[in-house]
Amino acid sequence: MRYIPKKHRDPQRAVPAGRCALCGGELYSGSSCWRLCGRILCEDCVLQWVLAELAPYHTVCGEVRK
Ligand SMILES: [Zn+2]
Repeated sequence: MRYIPKKHRDPQRAVPAGRCALCGGELYSGSSCWRLCGRILCEDCVLQWVLAELAPYHTVCGEVRK
């Protein structure tokens, strides 16, 4: 029997290159992600994490003290 290599990799068999620190979702090589403060976050979680980090600066318009 002869081995014939596949021309295209099967995405279902791809090994994850990492996991999102928030949701635990698998991150694959070449996919978009963010490395913030030593954590790797997926596209779905990065905004939620950034807003939580910026929470101390959150205020209500009209209540800002000088
Ligand atoms: Zn995530």
